[in-house]
Formats: sequence, structure tokens, C-alpha cells
Amino acid sequence: MIVVLKPDISKKDETAVLKEIKKLGYVPHIMRGVERTVIGCIGDERTHQNLETLGSWSQVEKVVPIQKRFKLVSREAHKGNSTVKVGPEKVLVGGKKFQVMAGPCSVESEMQLMKTAHAVAKAGATILRGGAFKPRTSPYEFQGLGEKGLKMLAKARRETGLPVITELLSEAHAEMVAEYADILQIGARNAQNFQLLIAAAKTGKPVLLKRGLSMKIEEWLLAGEYVLSNNNPNLMFCERGIRTFETYTRNTLDLSTIPIIKKESHCPIVIDPSQGAGRSDLVVAMCKGATAMGADALLIEVHPNPAEAWSDGAQQLTIEGFAKLMEELKPFIAAAGRE
Ligand code: PEP
Ligand code: MN
Repeated sequence: MIVVLKPDISKKDETAVLKEIKKLGYVPHIMRGVERTVIGCIGDERTHQNLETLGSWSQVEKVVPIQKRFKLVSREAHKGNSTVKVGPEKVLVGGKKFQVMAGPCSVESEMQLMKTAHAVAKAGATILRGGAFKPRTSPYEFQGLGEKGLKMLAKARRETGLPVITELLSEAHAEMVAEYADILQIGARNAQNFQLLIAAAKTGKPVLLKRGLSMKIEEWLLAGEYVLSNNNPNLMFCERGIRTFETYTRNTLDLSTIPIIKKESHCPIVIDPSQGAGRSDLVVAMCKGATAMGADALLIEVHPNPAEAWSDGAQQLTIEGFAKLMEELKPFIAAAGRE
């Protein structure tokens, strides 16, 4: 931490600040400028008391933290790239192999899910997505099939061999959803529901944490910290677009998060261009961009008949569209040094 003193404070005031810094367990180093004095405080902020309280002292202009607030998710905590093993088949997210998670926004029926699951598996998807608990903006919209939907996902996994990702909406369902799912998705609307994050972490299952609708990257990293600090190292971040002034798209997909998360964290980064764009005609281009930029995986919505989907119809790819995308992605996967 750096403590910046107000200009023209007395020697006595300066000494009082220095005394407090030492009392909190830091070694102060004074740097005197022409107008101002700043004090570099040496000590581990993780084990020492927080110096930020000094900001309220009348002698102090501001306190500037140097260390980052997120610890376990940070690159400093783990030098290499973390990989997350998914399901009994141990599909590796974050490794050399590029992964594609695909499937319907919502599980609607056994027929709809099985048809999609077999088709995405055939086209090369490695993880099946499908929502059984849906976080709908309106209470009058389809809320998901609940456990019935989870059972269908389990059946689709048995039939296709694809591990399953599905959203966890409530702490009360953590154990139940974890019984069926190979990855617990924490949705954008719950990205800072810290009790839910803890409950998800405690199941021991891998967690995919979406970025909140208006979430700053530091807040997202700190939300991820809740998973790692609850003894679950299997965390993936997922960018799905944020709310901006732009209405041309449903959200603004922030692809800068790929190099930023790679720089700040060792955890994999997944891109969801379906929620990101909200428009199926933009999904292919965004998938290509995200892949070339070094994303570890994509999360894509696919439906046998998007026009009749019970949720997110406008953004879901058809089965044929998805198969075509998988072909077109190949050179981008290779260009990113992935398989
Ligand atoms: C979804 O994946 O269908 C979903 C609801 O995602 P998000 O939480 O990103 O809106
Ligand atoms: Mn959706």
C-alpha cells in the first residue's frame, strides 16, 4: 500500500501516521517530494491488517493499494494455466484441446433434448448444455422443467457420452443439481450471489461462472475467489456479454475479457456468444473471433427448431447451422494453437 499524506501537515501528524502504520505491522518507507510526502508500506496485505482505514485520517489524502484484491484466482497464485477436468470422461477445459459446449437454452422435452444432444455430439461438441432451472426475467415465462429436465440431461449423457453443464439457480438445489450435472453453471443474474457460489463450490463439481449483467472484471474475479476459497479449484469464467447503451445487440460481448482473464487469472475462460449477441446471425462470427483470441471453450445454444424454442429462440443456432459452424471453426482453432 502507498499512503499519500496531505500537503503541509505537521511533523507531529506525520509521526502519528507512521506510528499507526508500524502498529498495523507494516514497515514504512518515506519518500519526500516537493509538495507532498508519500509513504510506501511494506508488508503482506494478506496477513496484515488492512491499511485502508488510514484513508479516513485527516492527515491522509489517499491510500493506494498495490496488491490485487483477488488472490487465489490470480496468476500470482498459480503460474501455469489451470485445467478443469469435466465428468468421468475427464474432458479437459483449459488444456491444448479446444472445447465446445453446445445444446438448447432450455430442456423442453426428451425428444428435443435427445435430438439436439446426438446432433451436437456428431458435429464435434464435447460437452452438452441445457437449462433445467431457468432464470427468466418475467415470472410468466417458462421457468424450466426442474428435476424432470435434469433426468433428461442425465439420459442424454448416458446416450451420447457427453458430460453435462446446467444452471444452478438456488442454494436449495445445489446437491440435487450436482447429482446430475458435471459442471454447475452460475448465471449472469446470480454472479454475485455469494451464498450460491459457496454452495456450488462445496459440491466439489466444476463451476462455470458467468459474468454478471453489469459486472466489472475485478468484481467477477472476486466472485470467482468465492469458489476457490471454498476449496474448489475447478473454476471457469464465462463472458456472456454485458449491458451497455447499445440496443442493436441483446448484450455487448466483451471479447477483451479473453486476454484480460488470461493475464490476471490462471482459470480457463469460456465465451458464450449466444447470450452475448442475442442474435443467431452474429453467433458464427463471434465464435470465430473468440476462438482466434485464445478462449478455452465456447458455450453455444443449439435448438432443432429455434423459431419454436421456449426460451431464447432468436439466438439459438439450428442443428445444421451448428454443424456448419464446427467445420468453419477448424482453421481458427488451429490458428490459436489448439486442437
Ligand atoms: C443461459 O445460459 O441460458 C443463460 C440464462 O445465461 P445467462 O445467465 O448468461 O443469461
Ligand atoms: Mn439462454
